[in-house]
Amino acid sequence: MNKNALLAIGISIIIDIVMSMLVGLATYLMRESFWVGFLIAFVVIFVLGNLWNVYLIAKDNLRVKEIEAANNLAKAQQEIQITCAACKRTNAIPITLEKENHFNCVFCQQENVVMMSFSTAITTTPLTAKIDVPPTIL
Ligand SMILES: [Zn+2]
Repeated sequence: MNKNALLAIGISIIIDIVMSMLVGLATYLMRESFWVGFLIAFVVIFVLGNLWNVYLIAKDNLRVKEIEAANNLAKAQQEIQITCAACKRTNAIPITLEKENHFNCVFCQQENVVMMSFSTAITTTPLTAKIDVPPTIL
């Protein structure tokens, strides 16, 4: 546990004690026991504080997941230079392989769909790595 977490816990406990003392003082002024009011208030404030912490942690986790999803989407996109099918001028657009990609041309406003095609090639060894010829005798 780091120093900031210990400080936060200490401050929470001090606030809990001060508020419980105020409730205990109020019960004392109503001619009841200070300690009964103090203990009831201490437990209630402690439980409510824990519930609040659970809510904040769940909220933070949800926000982290949203940020991760946005980052993953940004990583999946590649920007390409592609010509508009209508005016033949070049647009820079982000595309992703996971869905059909559409864009409106920045010059003529025509909506375009990106058609993707793939091809293959045989990987080869560079010629410099193949030179293993025995020396010729002249
Ligand atoms: Zn265009």
